[in-house]
Amino acid sequence: MAGLCESGNEPAGSLKAICNTTRCRHPGCSETETLGLVLGFCKKGELLRNNRHHRARTAIANLLRNRGWEVHEEIHCVSEDDSHSRVDIIAINRRTRKRWS
Ligand SMILES: [Zn+2]
Repeated sequence: MAGLCESGNEPAGSLKAICNTTRCRHPGCSETETLGLVLGFCKKGELLRNNRHHRARTAIANLLRNRGWEVHEEIHCVSEDDSHSRVDIIAINRRTRKRWS
């Protein structure tokens, strides 16, 4: 029995055609398809990655809130070199005067 990528005369877009390239299968993406690309970089999964990130961030933030911390999410910051970024979570414990970010 031939393997999934071992038969011949496959039309474009078939599994064989897909298997003959190392390029990402997402249209418009010219990167080499690696696990790291698919899970962390390719535009194809960007919305899913962002959604997963937001759900995880909110779950952590809610755990901290439930323990009495003052929590701020997605805080826009400007660093000393004027670069802009966002901090996922800043948590402040007003009672112990500890902070976590
Ligand atoms: Zn891609």
